[in-house]
Amino acid sequence: MAIERTLSIIKPDAVAKNVIGKIYDRFESAGLKIIASKMAHLSQSEAEQFYAVHAARPFFKDLVSFMISGPVMIQVLQGEGAIAKNRDLMGATDPKKADAGTIRADFADSIDANAVHGSDAPETAAVEIAFFFPGMNVFAR
Ligand code: UDP
Repeated sequence: MAIERTLSIIKPDAVAKNVIGKIYDRFESAGLKIIASKMAHLSQSEAEQFYAVHAARPFFKDLVSFMISGPVMIQVLQGEGAIAKNRDLMGATDPKKADAGTIRADFADSIDANAVHGSDAPETAAVEIAFFFPGMNVFAR
């Protein structure tokens, strides 16, 4: 399987719960390398741009409000099949439907406050990584 990169965000609910380290352990234990990371408190404009694909959805306003409600931890994960692997680790969007042992089953409270974001395809991964890590601050290894 190809080595891929994917964009991951630990959302404000999980940062507030103090489980960044526990979620990083899931990534590393699954063989994914954290090759870039930063904590940020997104502006409304950044959150709206990042989730622009959902702009027409009924939950868009609440999603943006939630994403700017506190700091987030943003990282690039690299590894074999990293995009699908991260989505498997995350679990279903609605934590009530997420498989046992997934990040969302263990750390998320609701479909809105669902602990993590992960790119869903190579094209979106490339766009999302460039959005948060333009230029040199990705440490390939
Ligand atoms: N979302 C929401 N209500 C919904 C569907 C989605 O609040 O009914 C939020 C949720 O935070 C989700 C994000 O919008 O993670 C993006 O939705 P998507 O369908 O892309 O889910 P994901 O890829 O994050 O699992």
